[in-house]
Amino acid sequence: MAETAAAVVPSDHIMGVYNRAPLAFERGEGARCWTAEGEEYLDCMAGIAVNALGHAHPKLVAALTEQAQKIWHVSNVFRIPGQEALAKLICDNTFADEVFFTNSGAEAIELALKVARRYHASKGRPEKIDIIGFDGSFHGRTYAAVNASGNASYLEGFGPRLPGYLQATFGDMDGLAAMMGPNTAAVIIEPVQGEGGARSLPAEDLNRLRALCDEHGALLIYDEIQCGLSRTGKLFAHEYASAAQPDIMCLAKALGGGFPVGACLATAEAGSGMNVGAHGSTWGGNPLAMAVGKASFEELIKPELQAHVREVAGYFTQQLAGLQQRFPDVVVDIRGKGLLIGIKLAANNREFMQLARDERLLVAGGGDNCVRLLPPLTLTLEEAREAVEKLERACEAARRKLAA
Ligand SMILES: *Cc1c(COP(=O)(O)O)cnc(C)c1O
Repeated sequence: MAETAAAVVPSDHIMGVYNRAPLAFERGEGARCWTAEGEEYLDCMAGIAVNALGHAHPKLVAALTEQAQKIWHVSNVFRIPGQEALAKLICDNTFADEVFFTNSGAEAIELALKVARRYHASKGRPEKIDIIGFDGSFHGRTYAAVNASGNASYLEGFGPRLPGYLQATFGDMDGLAAMMGPNTAAVIIEPVQGEGGARSLPAEDLNRLRALCDEHGALLIYDEIQCGLSRTGKLFAHEYASAAQPDIMCLAKALGGGFPVGACLATAEAGSGMNVGAHGSTWGGNPLAMAVGKASFEELIKPELQAHVREVAGYFTQQLAGLQQRFPDVVVDIRGKGLLIGIKLAANNREFMQLARDERLLVAGGGDNCVRLLPPLTLTLEEAREAVEKLERACEAARRKLAA
């Protein structure tokens, strides 16, 4: 691979918390990106499910540049019409009555957990603080988020665990039922796990989870930061279990289509403890973010986009099953939902990501030795076919490596 020095040599001045690929992109359009040397890549990770409408979507570019000429930032001490408009649009399309906008997913999670504890405190039950999360889950990197997340290594060296965080086993509903009690404030779950390896919770389990929360007076928090906003072929992944509405839900990633926008949604009841002064953010929901967020959300809620996702996902499911059959020594399992696809590998997933890059295909890593396909939702069937061909060649290369 032709690599420039600038792209290969890691910077001394960047904190070394990422294992970065020796690649830098200069430009993107739709599902393609180009390096400075003009090498073209097919993007099936979309900045980890962020660029859901692809790179440089004309409507997002227009919304951003138009707002950039007017006003970028004011502060939440003023009314922000763009924020009110996007909040209404979100509430019109969800269970929610109110929204707080953030700059990231972790901030939305942080707020969701605060909303839940504050709710019980405001009802005179300040001891009801327990938050139950699941193994294999990922909710972000702030203190509360890593305590709620399922990856113990994210807590290492950062002091003691925060009190009131418990962990259940994803899919073990009886175990969860046994863990819940009068002090359970909330259960937090990704209806389809992302980083944890694209595991999808069956609809009946989500329905049971809702019933368990009701039984114990606990709030149900969905983290749809990755699986939401049409990624699975419905606007939200939890819609596959229609009875299971949450009390609180977090969105981010695709919401800004590449511009940092997150949101914490709540019912009026769940949000009733959040009075003036209970939370805040300098940038959250600023005019620039809201202009892009609204343009993005308007595209993401389109039923024809969801139908397209289901069609492309159906094609992938069929083709990847074939790949698994032809390469049982390389591909161990195919999982996920819609265009949140996990390919569990026999050998090292990081090596496979490099083999895919050798074929000019970008895929994301994932827990449980998976790579994830998280393409733009606008990926065409033709591009999906190209992705499968590239994956097939990467599987052949992986097989040669295993044999060597
Ligand atoms: C990415 C992600 C987060 C964290 O979002 P950040 O914007 O990185 O803080 C939380 N939950 C899920 C499910 C995610 O995929």
